[in-house]
Amino acid sequence: MDVNFKRYGLYLIRWQLSTPILAGVLIVLSSMDPLYATIIANLIGGLIFFWVDRFIFTSKALDAQWEVRENIRCVDCGRICRGYRLVKTDNYDKTDDNEPEFRCEECSQKKSEELRKRGVRH
Ligand SMILES: [Zn+2]
Repeated sequence: MDVNFKRYGLYLIRWQLSTPILAGVLIVLSSMDPLYATIIANLIGGLIFFWVDRFIFTSKALDAQWEVRENIRCVDCGRICRGYRLVKTDNYDKTDDNEPEFRCEECSQKKSEELRKRGVRH
């Protein structure tokens, strides 16, 4: 199975976020029967996290794979620093690039904007 660690990480964080929300609802409803309070807390959680989970599992932005490498020469400005390159999205694939182009953070953001205008989702 191919696990997307960005999705997996976000999903784990989302579970942690559900804890204070459910606890908060249970505190507010503490005078109620615990069983009913839990049902209401889970209902509220479900109303919120349906949308969060949908984003986590369907967002194309989370499909993008980046490669980060230390001490590269930025192809745009020539600076030696940590470099970034977009490797793969659902409609862009530079996995087998023989001469991968790395860019510094600043130039990478400009390039990223340019790719977005060309319709590359990431
Ligand atoms: Zn640069």
